[in-house]
Amino acid sequence: MSETIFALSSGRPPAAIAVIRISGPNAGAALSAVIGRVPQPRQAALATVRNPASGERVDQAVALWFPAPASETGEDTAELQIHGGQAVIAATLRALAAQAGLRLAEPGEFTRRAFTNGRLDLTEVEGLADLIAAETEQQRRQAFRQLTGALRETAETWRKRLIEAQALIEAALDFSDEGDVTEQAREQALDAAALLRGEIEAALADAGRGERVRAGFTVAIAGPPNAGKSSLFNALARREAAIVSSIPGTTRDVLEVHLDLGGFAVTVLDTAGIRPTDDPVERIGVERARGRAAAADLVLWVTEAGADEAGPEFAARAGQDVWILRNKIDLNPAEQGHGELCTSAVTGEGLAELEARLAGAAGAALAGREPPLVTRERQRARLAEAAAALARAAQPDLPDDLVAEELRAAATALGRLTGRIDVEEMLDALFGEFCIGK
Ligand code: GDP
Repeated sequence: MSETIFALSSGRPPAAIAVIRISGPNAGAALSAVIGRVPQPRQAALATVRNPASGERVDQAVALWFPAPASETGEDTAELQIHGGQAVIAATLRALAAQAGLRLAEPGEFTRRAFTNGRLDLTEVEGLADLIAAETEQQRRQAFRQLTGALRETAETWRKRLIEAQALIEAALDFSDEGDVTEQAREQALDAAALLRGEIEAALADAGRGERVRAGFTVAIAGPPNAGKSSLFNALARREAAIVSSIPGTTRDVLEVHLDLGGFAVTVLDTAGIRPTDDPVERIGVERARGRAAAADLVLWVTEAGADEAGPEFAARAGQDVWILRNKIDLNPAEQGHGELCTSAVTGEGLAELEARLAGAAGAALAGREPPLVTRERQRARLAEAAAALARAAQPDLPDDLVAEELRAAATALGRLTGRIDVEEMLDALFGEFCIGK
């Protein structure tokens, strides 16, 4: 890794301050070129940034120097805190780009180097990506726990225990002529493997919650045409206090809005587009909307207050909650008090109650005493591999050499989880999640 990279690591300009990071073997030389010196390690230094070619002053900055290996990337790293104006940033980046051996970083490249240099393992990299993307308190908490090694530490302890069990089995193989000792070692190894399997399966059982915290508790708004689904969706989305982000779908696709209800991420889908159609393009949108609604944790079936509607014709899958909601209550106040949710997207009546109930449902689905350990599909897949290998190892009368083989397979799966073992093929996908400068 001979190249030195640099990038703007702070948010979109203009801003009060912009942070430019430089990492790699030429970071110190680059810093000297633009500010005339390398400051004391880890101490903020006031500095004048100059264009080394012309000598012209570009800005006044705070400079920081983190020599390898005690830096974020594990390499020599420098940080320049400059004024966050477009032209200041552009001039500073130009001055750096003119240095020999320096180039602009690719997305996620700083983090990738941190991984390569052993500063972060893969689960911590995933935690970092999630922390940057976190929109709610619960997502932040879960991501921060992952970034600070919750899963890495557990997985490494599991792996160490597996390797010990493997050593016992191999000892049993080596000394197979000493009956008692062999039998004892074998039993010890199998007991250890069974215990581990139980722990991994317990973590897997909670994996759905972790993945859901990341994605949000999903609520699909469905119901007959004209009941006010889109109006209700907009009313929920427009309550500024609650809205986090909204993603308009392609023309006839699903609209979704991310809400923060009581600290829980709730994704509301407007499936107003679900209706029979002959238009082939629209049909694709309808299919997609149906798929999203079918996968939602909760369906809000919206009908018009006073209308004589049959129940939801929506085919809820097993375990999917469906709430009936009577909208347009302003037109038909007599409908109040039938025990069902009543709202008016026009007057706002009942919306606070609806939000409170949604927050309650999200909390019930997402909350737990501890943040879950497994938060991503990739992690779940690796742990499931390990658990399956341990299950095979526990088959009665399996010869010792095959038991050893299964224990090795389980340890390999755990090594892949943390990125100790051949993961090259998924690295590009993972680091591509980051923006430039991270
Ligand atoms: P959708 O087809 O279910 O998405 O229904 P829309 O949201 O497009 O609403 C259909 C019509 O009902 C529009 O004219 C809305 O203005 C109106 N509407 C929606 N919600 C309410 C409500 O709570 N009260 C009243 N009076 N009109 C509503």
